[in-house]
Amino acid sequence: MAELIDGKKISLLIKDEVKDHVSKLKEEGKEKALAVILVGEDPASQVYVRNKKAGCEYVGIRSESYELPEDTSEEEILSLIDRLNADDKINGILVQLPLPKHIDEDKVLLRIDPKKDVDGFHPVNVGNLSIGTPGFISCTPNGIIQLLKKSGINAEGKHCVIIGRSNIVGKPMANLMLRENATVTICHSKTVNLKEICKTADILIVAIGRAKMVDASYVKPGAVVIDVGMDRDENGKLCGDVDFESVKDVAGYITPVPGGVGPMTIAMLLYNTSGGDYDL
Ligand code: NAP
Repeated sequence: MAELIDGKKISLLIKDEVKDHVSKLKEEGKEKALAVILVGEDPASQVYVRNKKAGCEYVGIRSESYELPEDTSEEEILSLIDRLNADDKINGILVQLPLPKHIDEDKVLLRIDPKKDVDGFHPVNVGNLSIGTPGFISCTPNGIIQLLKKSGINAEGKHCVIIGRSNIVGKPMANLMLRENATVTICHSKTVNLKEICKTADILIVAIGRAKMVDASYVKPGAVVIDVGMDRDENGKLCGDVDFESVKDVAGYITPVPGGVGPMTIAMLLYNTSGGDYDL
């Protein structure tokens, strides 16, 4: 049986480190604050926003929330972002995605000052990560780096295979694993011989969005398997992209869903909002 990587426990460790950092800043008279913008009434987004606000409260970051009706115009959102960009008391701005269809998401994300872009989605921050200069790093992939580190897994010289090339997970993940001196292969829906490539991975990171697609036949014995997926199985139950029951007997380490990568995303958002510029 693989060793379980406990994202709940590790995320709590990180939140406590952030809490300490925030309280030291407070002693110096510096307060951190996050502005969260939610447009519409998507129930999943409402839950995410609620969890982010609770996380802020836990670590001592002030949060301001802007919950706007579904028919809010793009102009109104852009001018709210302009106002928050100019507000010295706000140091992180987060726009909960997805936005309603009449709003251009790219335009909205581009409008956020890169110095307040705690999601790490702005092209300036994406570029910083790519060339190795300081900037905010996308929370989910950065959380995976912490899962590895806090589990004592050294990626240097290892073959890391990532399935998925999205801008928020797969691509930044590849850059981060390069930074850790892993040898990186990125796979996607057009990859030929996916299974064979995955079987050569020492570290397999799966971010596809297909319930339980990766079973034991994709996994080299003893490999580290990180499951980013948040899917629903045939009974509507939350599950990952990895077939946990099948893979757990082959892998050396594995993350569960829920309780693996998921809790790390918020922990890293709080880390970014607290500055994102110190060692964890
Ligand atoms: P996405 O933007 O839809 O990207 C999915 C990627 O998987 C694409 O690169 C796609 O290839 C690839 N893919 C799809 N089908 C494939 C197949 N059959 N074989 C190989 N590759 C395939 O998704 P995402 O935003 O990266 O999210 C991925 C999963 O992670 C989702 O379940 C999402 O809910 C979850 N997620 C979780 C968190 C968290 O906090 N835990 C955060 C973000 C995302 P192409 O590029 O060729 O289309």
